Amino acid sequence: MMETLARAIEVTRRYGSVTALDGVSLDIRRGELVGLLGPNGAGKSTLINLFAGLRRPHSGRVELFGGSPADPVRRRDIGVTPQETGLPSTLRVREVVDFVTAHYPRGAARGELLERFGLTGMERRQIGGLSGGQKRRLAVALAFAGNPRLVFLDEPTTGLDVEARRALWDAVRDFHAGGGTVVLTSHYLEEVEALAERVVVVDRGRVLADDTVAAVRDIAGMRHVTLTAGELPDLPGVVRAERDGSRVLLLTADADALVRALVRADVPFTGLEIRPTSLEEAFLTITAHEPQAA
Ligand code: ADP
Ligand code: MG
Repeated sequence: MMETLARAIEVTRRYGSVTALDGVSLDIRRGELVGLLGPNGAGKSTLINLFAGLRRPHSGRVELFGGSPADPVRRRDIGVTPQETGLPSTLRVREVVDFVTAHYPRGAARGELLERFGLTGMERRQIGGLSGGQKRRLAVALAFAGNPRLVFLDEPTTGLDVEARRALWDAVRDFHAGGGTVVLTSHYLEEVEALAERVVVVDRGRVLADDTVAAVRDIAGMRHVTLTAGELPDLPGVVRAERDGSRVLLLTADADALVRALVRADVPFTGLEIRPTSLEEAFLTITAHEPQAA
């Protein structure tokens, strides 16, 4: 069994009347690269902030290396890039890196750290003079300043162009290949797919799925097929079927095969429509109801 580095057990966190996390349980094991995937407002940042000891749960428990995330000794072994970072604009890159690195017993070498994040030669630049993408890369680099065992990256590639995004992905992959554990959030399946092995889909404060990238990809590729028809025979690949009067809604991973089967079965139908489901829609549909006959 792989050692569990971070754990949430039945965690609930509210902000006023908003329930940001609603009974979330999650284990992060050593060596994993986990993507937290979900739309805006899903609760991803709240979960990261709880793991990083920046917030406390209202109920349930969060553990980091088997203890409290508020314990500074445990926090020495993690690195965090929050979703929003405000670095002092008059400081120079070198000063910020040295300041952060000095807090750790095994700080990273500045030159090597900057190189990994494509910031070589920027040591003397003031933060305020960096581009948005450079600021973001610096903020992510700082998560690695203490040579952590576990990093939490909250939407690390926000504001990066394609090239910078790929470079950042490479840096994350290198860290992981060297034995590091990564938890990152994104609302893009493509990003999670590019990096993670395990995907945890979060929405409305709950974990909807915790699976391999391939399994989540299958669900994300679902199509809504709607048509007007009488009684339908058994059709292949239908994950869910719903009827509203004469309109039938079918959810399937392979709309082409479904339409061929409909035609082969020689059932009369009209008004055929096929549309993609959003990831949230696919997960909500699947988790909200059991499949049922049309
Ligand atoms: P995500 O990172 O997935 O976009 P968040 O964890 O930021 O989601 O937010 C989850 C929910 O909690 C949202 O409804 C958000 O508006 C609310 N929320 C988050 N942080 C705060 C806060 N500091 N004050 C009030 N509401 C908050
Ligand atoms: Mg967020």
